[in-house]
Amino acid sequence: MKYISTRNKEIKVTSAQAIVNGLSNDGGLFVPETFPKLEKEDFDKLIEMSYPERAAKVLSMYLDDFSYEELLDYTTKAYSRFYGEDPCPLVNIDDGLYVLELWHGPTCAFKDMALTMLPHLLSAARKKTGETSKTLILVATSGDTGKAALEGFKDVEGTDIIVFYPSEGVSDMQKLQMMTQEGENVFVCAIEGNFDDAQSAVKTIFNDKDMQDKLLANGYKLSSANSINWGRLAPQIAYYVSAYCDMISSGKIEYGDKVNFCVPSGNFGNILAAYYASLMGVGVNKLICASNVNNVLTDFFNTGEYNTHRDFHKTVSPSMDILISSNLERLLFEFCGRDDKLMSERMNSLKKEGKYNVSVDELNKLNRIFAVGYATEEDTLSVIDSSLEVYDYLMDTHTAVATSVYYDYYDTTDDQTPTVIVSTANAYKFPCDVYKAIADEYVEDAKKATKKLFSFSGEEVPVPLADLDKKQIRFTKIINKANIADEVLNYTTLEKK
Ligand SMILES: *Cc1c(COP(=O)(O)O)cnc(C)c1O
Repeated sequence: MKYISTRNKEIKVTSAQAIVNGLSNDGGLFVPETFPKLEKEDFDKLIEMSYPERAAKVLSMYLDDFSYEELLDYTTKAYSRFYGEDPCPLVNIDDGLYVLELWHGPTCAFKDMALTMLPHLLSAARKKTGETSKTLILVATSGDTGKAALEGFKDVEGTDIIVFYPSEGVSDMQKLQMMTQEGENVFVCAIEGNFDDAQSAVKTIFNDKDMQDKLLANGYKLSSANSINWGRLAPQIAYYVSAYCDMISSGKIEYGDKVNFCVPSGNFGNILAAYYASLMGVGVNKLICASNVNNVLTDFFNTGEYNTHRDFHKTVSPSMDILISSNLERLLFEFCGRDDKLMSERMNSLKKEGKYNVSVDELNKLNRIFAVGYATEEDTLSVIDSSLEVYDYLMDTHTAVATSVYYDYYDTTDDQTPTVIVSTANAYKFPCDVYKAIADEYVEDAKKATKKLFSFSGEEVPVPLADLDKKQIRFTKIINKANIADEVLNYTTLEKK
C-alpha cells in the first residue's frame, strides 16, 4: 500500500518512506491510499489474541514493507515496557460506561502507545530505504509527546532527538520529566511562547530547504515524532480495534454493534485514529471530540469555520492547549472527497489568514459521525471530584474534560449507546490540579501534591513518576522562539565534532 500527500496526490511513497520523512515535501501529511477492512472472521481471531498480536495484525495491514513477524517483534518489545498485565485495559466504571486507560507506559500518558513503537518502525524503515544520514527527530510538545519521544528514542542508534516545550505551558511534573531525561542523543530546550509557537517554528524548519541543506552537510535528515508522522498514528488505530474486541469478548456487545468513543483532543491525532478504526470495521456510533476552553474544534464542528484568531488559554489540561490541530487536515481530506487542490488552498489560507472554511455539505457529513463539546476549568475539576466519589475512580484533568463533555452529550441526546471514555494520562502527571479538585486545597509543589494525593486517594503512584525524585536535572536552557533554528543547527554542528 502506498501513501499519498493530502496536498498533492501525485506524491506517492511507501510506508517506510512515509515514516522516515515524517512530512511530505509539499507540507502535506501522508495518508494511506485506501483503508484496509477487518471482517467478522478477523475479529474472531483478534479477540483471541494478546495486545501485541492485535497491534501487529492491525499494523501489518497498513505497513506492507514490514512483515507480521517483524511487527510482532516490535510490538512485543514496545508493550513489554508497560506496567501491569494489559498495556491498555478497558475499565467498566458504570452501566454502559467504560474508561480505556492508555497511560500504563513508561511516561504515564497515551503518547507511549505510539512512541514506544515509533523508534522500532523508524530504525527498520531507515534500513529499508537505505538511509545513510542520521535521523534528527524534532519535537514540539505541549508536555506529553516530548517526554514519551525522549524515552522512546533515547540511545537509539542512528537517531538524535531535540524537544522544544513552552516554558510556562506544561505542568511541573511534565517539566521535571523532561529536564531529567537520560540518554546520550537527547537535547531538551524550553522556549518563551506557547505550544503553537513551538509547533510552527518546528514546522517551518521542516519546510525550509536551506535549513535542510545545512543539516545534511552536518550529516542529518529531519523526521518527526509528532502525530503528523504516520508511524505515530498507525499504532493508535490498534487500541480502538482492541477495545472493541474487549467489549465483544466481555459479552457487553456483539460484533457489529456500535459504541461511542469520547476523546480528549488537541492535535486531533487520537480521535483521528478512532475514525480510521471505524473505516476498518469497528462499529462506531459517535466520535465525541472533547476540548477544554481552547475550543477551536468545538467551534469548527458547529460552524464550518476553523479560525485561530482567538485568545489562547492556559488550562489544567495543558496537553490540549492547542489552537492548530494538525491532524484535522487528514480528516478533511477524506470528507472533501480527497480533493488535494482544495486542501492545499485551505492550508495556505490557514497559514496566511489564520482560518479556512468547509462547505455545508462537508459539515453535515462530519456531524453525522462527530459530536463535539468543551469543558470549562470548573467543569473539569468538578468531574474529577465527582468521579472519585461516585465511581471510586481517580482520573486526570484530560480524562475529566472528556467525561464532562460526555455528560453534556448524554444530557442533550439521551443516547444510550455504550460509551468508551479515552483516558490519556495518569492522574499523578497533574498532581497539583487533581489534588485541588478533590481536596479543595492547592499545593504548588508537584512532589508534595503527589504525597497528599496518595494519602487522600490511596491510589498508587506509578513507578516512573515516583522515581523522578532520584533523577538529576540535565536540561535548563530557555530560548526565544526566534532562535529555534539556530539551536538546532548548533546541536548538529557540535554533535558532528
Ligand atoms: C496529547 C494529549 C492529548 C491530545 O491528543 P491529540 O492526539 O493531540 O488530540 C490529550 N490528553 C493528553 C494527556 C495528551 O498527552
